[in-house]
Amino acid sequence: MGSALECLFCKIVADKNSSPRIYEDRHFICIRDIRPRAKVHLLVIPRKHILSLDEAFPEKGWRFSGRSLMGKLYETAVKIARQEKLLPGGFRTVINTGETAGQTVWHLHLHVLGG
Ligand code: AMP
Ligand code: ZN
Repeated sequence: MGSALECLFCKIVADKNSSPRIYEDRHFICIRDIRPRAKVHLLVIPRKHILSLDEAFPEKGWRFSGRSLMGKLYETAVKIARQEKLLPGGFRTVINTGETAGQTVWHLHLHVLGG
């Protein structure tokens, strides 16, 4: 599952020139998925290295504010969807959590699919 040091999305977050950014702010960046499964397929990625939703909301203990992060993540996705003219038409959001669900990159991200 890898550490932040060898994490693909951490590298993309760190290197402004690696993938053109659709959007960025203090907490998130947004890039186009390299293997689009819709006309518009975006990934909204927190700057912070969090493995998955499982880690964002641990069974026990507290690592950081998953609630606050997820609220901001969805708010940002809607903002980006408007920016990219996916609204008022519509778009779909997906978060794969865990291997069985098909999660392949172990750094939390929200898929935004539309168009
Ligand atoms: P998931 O399967 O939910 O973990 O999603 C990972 C997504 O990242 C997949 O849809 C991949 O196509 C996408 N992906 C992998 N490498 C890159 C990359 N270098 N730039 C943009 N998207 C990528
Ligand atoms: Zn990472």
